[in-house]
Amino acid sequence: NTPTSTLTGREWQLAARPHGWPTPADFALVEAPVPEPGPGQILVRNLFLSVDPYMRGRMNDAKSYAPPYELGKPMQGAAVGRVVASEAEGVPVGAHVVHGLGWREYAVVDAAQAAVVDPEQAPLSAYLGVLGMTGLTAYVGLLRIAELAPGETVFVSGAAGAVGNQAGQIAKLKGAARVIGSAGSDEKCALLVDEYGFDAAFNYKNGPVAEQLAAAAPDGIDVYFDNVGGEHLEAAISSLRVHGRAALCGAISVYNDTEPAPGPRNLGLLVGRRITLRGFLVGDHQDLRDDFVREVGGWLREGRLRYRETVYTGIDQAVAAFLGMLRGETTGKTVVALPE
Ligand code: NDP
Repeated sequence: NTPTSTLTGREWQLAARPHGWPTPADFALVEAPVPEPGPGQILVRNLFLSVDPYMRGRMNDAKSYAPPYELGKPMQGAAVGRVVASEAEGVPVGAHVVHGLGWREYAVVDAAQAAVVDPEQAPLSAYLGVLGMTGLTAYVGLLRIAELAPGETVFVSGAAGAVGNQAGQIAKLKGAARVIGSAGSDEKCALLVDEYGFDAAFNYKNGPVAEQLAAAAPDGIDVYFDNVGGEHLEAAISSLRVHGRAALCGAISVYNDTEPAPGPRNLGLLVGRRITLRGFLVGDHQDLRDDFVREVGGWLREGRLRYRETVYTGIDQAVAAFLGMLRGETTGKTVVALPE
């Protein structure tokens, strides 16, 4: 790639590896030259950036399923934008694409690594959330991993977030008898019941999770969708009935820990109750994408599935968006808009 004479764009780089909670000093907003697209590549003006919990893991220098961000290099993440130059057949200038080079204003992307999306079908930001990776995560975790059956009782943690609210709504749409959610504020809990149709919700900051869950589900639960880990997972194990299943999606309560967190103390219950705990990564389940888009797209059009986004505006707000999402200051999918 050769640099163009004039075009530059701002990009967020990881300046230092956070120890515990990240601070703004761990990041640097840098103006950098934007190369021209080579053969098979497109130049994209990003319009929405995604900020996601897994990015915290990529800030550590530790082997994981996603490689660590490199210090002094632009960070990566999902983004959606408009093609402004193209050297790729089939992806013309003016098309909109989802791709993996977010955290920056302009991205040069291999067209093979980009998916064309239609802004007429849904607002562009929806392709990062309700119709994108977080939506597919909810769909996969609930239906394939936890194998939800109609009539069951479901508990979802992190329920007011991007994955969680959708998991709870899909559970109801698929015939769950009762759906319980937990979230970190009374306002979020009210939203779960009033807007998303959860049957009950509790604020995990108001008291022990095990007690609040047992009160909301006195007869126990069949399925647990775990976004949080830690105390939530232990409480859910205690409430899971015989043949209960937990889809282990994330463990956000420990992402900023500097020491290994203790595991659930009640794993002994798994044997007698024949409980399954199963971790998963959405990337392994792309074969469900068509079913997901068809089904969730239909529910959206029919107004049977609702979604919210928390939108920060401006590339300079991306770190604030990421930290706000981690702290629970946002609701629904958190994105950063980069208006042209
Ligand atoms: P969210 O939109 O849910 O944002 C994160 C939320 O986590 C915050 O809003 C906050 O809400 C909650 N939270 C933060 N700290 C804690 C804590 N200590 N205890 C309980 N809740 C906490 O993010 P996503 O929907 O994008 O992701 C949700 C989970 O799904 C994450 O664990 C993520 O890693 C995982 N994930 C996994 C994927 C996979 O393939 N397995 C793919 C995508 C996401 P509150 O105010 O309620 O505290």
